[in-house]
Amino acid sequence: MSALHELSVAALAKKLKAKEVSAVEAAQHFLARSAAHAGLGAYLATNEEATLAQARAADQRIASGDAAPLVGVPIAHKDIFVTKDFPSTAGSKMLEGYRSPFDATVVRKLAEAGTVTLGKLNCDEFAMGSSNENSAYGPVKNPWDTRRIPGGSSGGSAVAVAAGLAPAATGTDTGGSIRQPASFCGITGIKPTYGRASRYGMIAYASSLDQAGPMARSAEDCALLLSAICGPDPDRDSTSLDVPAEDFTQALGGSLEGLRIGVPKEFLAEGVSADVRSAIEAALAQYEKLGAKRVEVSLPRTELAIPVYYIIAPAEASSNLSRFDGVKFGHRAGQYGDLLDMYKKSRAEGFGLEVQRRIMVGTYVLSHGYYDAYYLQAQKIRRMIADDFQQAFKQCDVIVGPAAPTVAWKLGEHGNDPLADYLADIFTLPGSLAGLPGMCIPAGFGEGSMPVGLQLIGNYFQEGRLLNAAHRFQQATDFHLRRPEGF
Ligand code: GLN
Repeated sequence: MSALHELSVAALAKKLKAKEVSAVEAAQHFLARSAAHAGLGAYLATNEEATLAQARAADQRIASGDAAPLVGVPIAHKDIFVTKDFPSTAGSKMLEGYRSPFDATVVRKLAEAGTVTLGKLNCDEFAMGSSNENSAYGPVKNPWDTRRIPGGSSGGSAVAVAAGLAPAATGTDTGGSIRQPASFCGITGIKPTYGRASRYGMIAYASSLDQAGPMARSAEDCALLLSAICGPDPDRDSTSLDVPAEDFTQALGGSLEGLRIGVPKEFLAEGVSADVRSAIEAALAQYEKLGAKRVEVSLPRTELAIPVYYIIAPAEASSNLSRFDGVKFGHRAGQYGDLLDMYKKSRAEGFGLEVQRRIMVGTYVLSHGYYDAYYLQAQKIRRMIADDFQQAFKQCDVIVGPAAPTVAWKLGEHGNDPLADYLADIFTLPGSLAGLPGMCIPAGFGEGSMPVGLQLIGNYFQEGRLLNAAHRFQQATDFHLRRPEGF
């Protein structure tokens, strides 16, 4: 019999319903594992009392015959979602000790679905980063090789799932933060179409890009969670779309016969390391075996996604983070002179270096005289990038390629070179700028026996098609079942 942390969400839910294990026992199992592997740095906060209270309530729901699919399943949340029962820091000193009076919509919906919250997961400060090294609370270690980064910004979420410290977790993706850490940690993650999940209570980074999604071992598990996460939230998030929630598990199982898989030539160009390329080629061959047809497409502005994103995201961040001034929100300096001095000291002490860099870039590109030259230009190219995808989708049903050009790099390897991080985002940024749904699934191993992820991008509202394509691949392969040694 497999240990509880080796079960999928679907299998664990079944065991809970059959009363072979109680929600309290499941929660305790994962809390104990999380404590035993605290050295990975995945969790920022747990609250056993709150977790067990939720677990007891779930056991009552099960006892009364509640058949909802996720009742009693323990999950953990990226610390970018605000939560009543746990501190919410966004990985920043600015919010150290902050307690929200309410739960984010995504957290609330998952709780209503019966999940039990294990705790809050480490992430890059305000979700800005690709390695989790920007967290004010220390880096997270990749369980496949603890000398390596887990990816970011949802690094804690990816590690919690990969190391069996939670069956599933929430993440957020602004420019790749679900897909890239999923790729680096050998798990599955999906970011839905922009607007499908409510951003209410998600501490804002770049509002026109931020989107929540699940991270788990398999596409089937992601489908279960995504069904609970999506849905309109008109009173609380004006960008949430009026598209009803779906049961995404209904999309699983369809044949891939004739599915046109588009491979953008820019996604396999130079710059992609040989190990990643060969894993992706093998995955594509697997898809052909499953009946899919490979077609070459082009996303000619792929490279431009980097400067465009690193103008638009910091611009929005500079505006979003202005609320953290030591008065309205956030850390207040202990010693200061006048009001301006208090703002300056509070923000200099509360924000880490990368966040400060982005606030400066964002303020610059929005300022008079530079707005037209940078921000407006970037907005125009953003639209062209979205149009390029629509051209590509005339020739294919799903776009496929790597999630990142390499496997996870070593902790500290990019040192003080933020550009090295930015460049590694090249394959996730275009889909984000276009607001498209994207996912990442384990597709093999590369340098240092590290996981390689395959990215799948769909047209708007094609989450079901993506999940099915991922699910069929996972029925034919076992990469998503492999576990790092010792976990
Ligand atoms: N790595 C990107 C950044 O640093 C994306 C982060 C994200 O998706 N939250 O902004």
